[in-house]
Amino acid sequence: MNELEQIFIEMLNNIDDHKEAYNKPEWTNEAIVKTWIKAHETQLKKLFISGVTTNTMNEDNKKVWRGAKVKCDLCSYEWIAVYHRDCDKLECKNCTNMWHFEEVEII
Ligand SMILES: [Zn+2]
Repeated sequence: MNELEQIFIEMLNNIDDHKEAYNKPEWTNEAIVKTWIKAHETQLKKLFISGVTTNTMNEDNKKVWRGAKVKCDLCSYEWIAVYHRDCDKLECKNCTNMWHFEEVEII
C-alpha cells in the first residue's frame, strides 16, 4: 500500500474511532483535513517531493528516447528503431547507409 493511501486510511479510521469527538460543530470536514495535513506535514512533503521527482524523470525519458517504426529515405526499408530525439539519421539495417529516415505508423 502506498504511503498516501495509508495517510488517508488512518484519517478515516481515526474519525470512525472517535466519532463523538469529531461530532463537535468546530470539526467540519475542512477542519479535519487541515488538522490531519498539519499533523502529517513532514510525511506529506516527502511524498510529494519523491512523487514529483519520479514523474519528472519519467517525462524526460519519454521525451529523450523514441521507439518507433522507421523507414529509410534511401531504400524504403522499414524497421523498428529506438533513437534519441535529436537524432536525424540512422544506420539503415538494409542498405547500411547513415541516412535520413521518417517515422511510419505501425499497422
Ligand atoms: Zn536503407
